[in-house]
Amino acid sequence: MYLFEPSARPALTIAGDERMFPIRQVYCIGRNYADHAAEMGFEATPESPFYFLKPAECVTQKAVVPFAVGTQKLQHEVELVVALKSGGRGLTPEQAQAAIAGYAVGLDLTRRDLQIKNRDQGRPWEIGKVFDDAAPCSALHLVEDTGYLTEGSIELLINGETRQQGDLNQMIHDPAALICYLSTLQTLHAGDLIFTGTPAGVSDLQPGDRLTAKCAGVGEMSVTLSD
Ligand code: MN
Repeated sequence: MYLFEPSARPALTIAGDERMFPIRQVYCIGRNYADHAAEMGFEATPESPFYFLKPAECVTQKAVVPFAVGTQKLQHEVELVVALKSGGRGLTPEQAQAAIAGYAVGLDLTRRDLQIKNRDQGRPWEIGKVFDDAAPCSALHLVEDTGYLTEGSIELLINGETRQQGDLNQMIHDPAALICYLSTLQTLHAGDLIFTGTPAGVSDLQPGDRLTAKCAGVGEMSVTLSD
C-alpha cells in the first residue's frame, strides 16, 4: 500500500505499435559532435564521453509545452535518442547493439545561461538541464524497422528555418560505444534512454517558436513553445 497513488511511469509511444515504451533512466551525452563542442568553446577529444541525467518525467510528447521559466537564454539541442530493451554491466559492443530497442529524435532543451553560470562556478548543471518538459521526444521507432542507425541527416528547424544540421556519422562515440561506456559505470536496464549529443547550431528560442526535429530513420517531431 502506498501513502498515495504513485504517479504513472513516463512512457513513449511506439510508431505503428499500440504498446508503450516505459522510460527508466535518461542519460544525456555531452559534446559528442566536434563542431558543437567547438561552438561551446571546447576542443572535442576522443577521451571517455561525459554525461548527465534528466529525470524521466522531463520527457514529453506534448505538441505544446510552456516556455521554460527562469531563463533569458533557452536553447535547443536536437539529438538522436537510443532506447534500450535490455541492459547489464560491462557490455561488449555486440551486446550493446543487441540491447537497442529502437530510436527517437528528441530535444535536450537547455537553460544555457543557468547551465554556464553554474558550470563556471563549479556547481552542478541540473538547473540548466532539468525543468518541466525539458526533453520533448518523438515516438519510438523499433530497430526492426530502422536497422542500426549510424549515419544520416539530423536537423532542427525553427519556424521552418534550418538552425542545426549534421549527420549521425559525425558522432565521436557511436550509440554502441556509448552503451558500452555507460555500462562500465552502472547497470543499464530496459527502458533506459540515451540522448546521444547534438551537432552545431544551437541557438536562442523565443516564446511562440515552433521547433521541428528531423532525423534519418526516425522521421520528424514538432513542438511549440507557448508564451
Ligand atoms: Mn545535449
